[in-house]
Amino acid sequence: MQINTPKHTVLIVDDLQLNIKFLANTLKDEYQIKIATDGNKAIEIASNRDDAPDLILLDVIMPCMDGYEVCRRLKEQDTTKNIPIIFVTARDDAEHEEHGLNLGAVDYVTKPFRKSILKARVRNHVELKVKTDLLETFAIIDGLTGIPNRRSFDTTLHKEWGRARREGAPLSIMIMDIDNFKAYNDNYGHGKGDECLKRVAAALSGVIVRPADIVARYGGEEFVAILPNTDHQGGFSLGEVFRKTIEVLKIPHAFSEIADHVTISIGLHTLIPTPEEQVESFLKKADDALYTSKKQGKNQVTSAS
Ligand code: GH3
Ligand code: MG
Ligand code: MG
Repeated sequence: MQINTPKHTVLIVDDLQLNIKFLANTLKDEYQIKIATDGNKAIEIASNRDDAPDLILLDVIMPCMDGYEVCRRLKEQDTTKNIPIIFVTARDDAEHEEHGLNLGAVDYVTKPFRKSILKARVRNHVELKVKTDLLETFAIIDGLTGIPNRRSFDTTLHKEWGRARREGAPLSIMIMDIDNFKAYNDNYGHGKGDECLKRVAAALSGVIVRPADIVARYGGEEFVAILPNTDHQGGFSLGEVFRKTIEVLKIPHAFSEIADHVTISIGLHTLIPTPEEQVESFLKKADDALYTSKKQGKNQVTSAS
């Protein structure tokens, strides 16, 4: 079966137009080609998160910054370290090849080379890159709802906790739980239950606008939000927005004990982390606040702070 996927992108880095032309001609039918004629430009193009290349063909000898230095810098940066690099060079001695591979390049091609072999090498490495990307996505995205999973939540929480502590900034966290969801599942069926979870996840994710905020699926019918640089008042207002956003979806729920549609309860906690404070107890307090929301009648926000 042939699946129509967009062309993958190859970045060609070389200071000589002739070399660029030759490589571009070799690959242009199968790949979208980007070009950089020096190291700085290459790093700039590779660092564009939204449109990063899937593979880089990198010349070694270039003025200002040589290919080895470009490779070193790309491997040092989180956003670019996973882009496979193939050196394409006239330097055909073993020492240089060893050096290039030790810097993290996946391959080292010496000139002159056969077009078909270069194509095959590029194809193999791009295929591997695409598979690796996919695995990474599966590791951090919840399969049902398509939003970040618990693992991403844990990673983000620890990162933001550390940052907030260093900066002395407030951090808010929310645990959100669908009310009477067992009754929803039992009466409408698991398929409808899944549909409901997807709609709730999409709606909650739609609320956040700041790039540092995240909404993740914590498990089952529980969701979490991490809101860096958000004080108690800001957290509470946003909690109300989350709650109302689910109310206005008006997903029918004839078996809820508190409304005729799906609602959520929220536990919020805000603090400026200190070295004495544990991230686990931070989370626990938000969970206790959620429990209070449930006990007091559900469909509400309770703050632990
Ligand atoms: P409360 O109002 O106190 O939160 O009660 P509840 O019924 O929502 O909570 P409870 O923890 O008793 O039940 C959660 C239910 O969520 C149990 C299970 O049927 C359902 N559930 C958990 N994960 C999934 C899922 O991935 N898909 C579906 N369809 N249902 C799920
Ligand atoms: Mg529930
Ligand atoms: Mg629950």
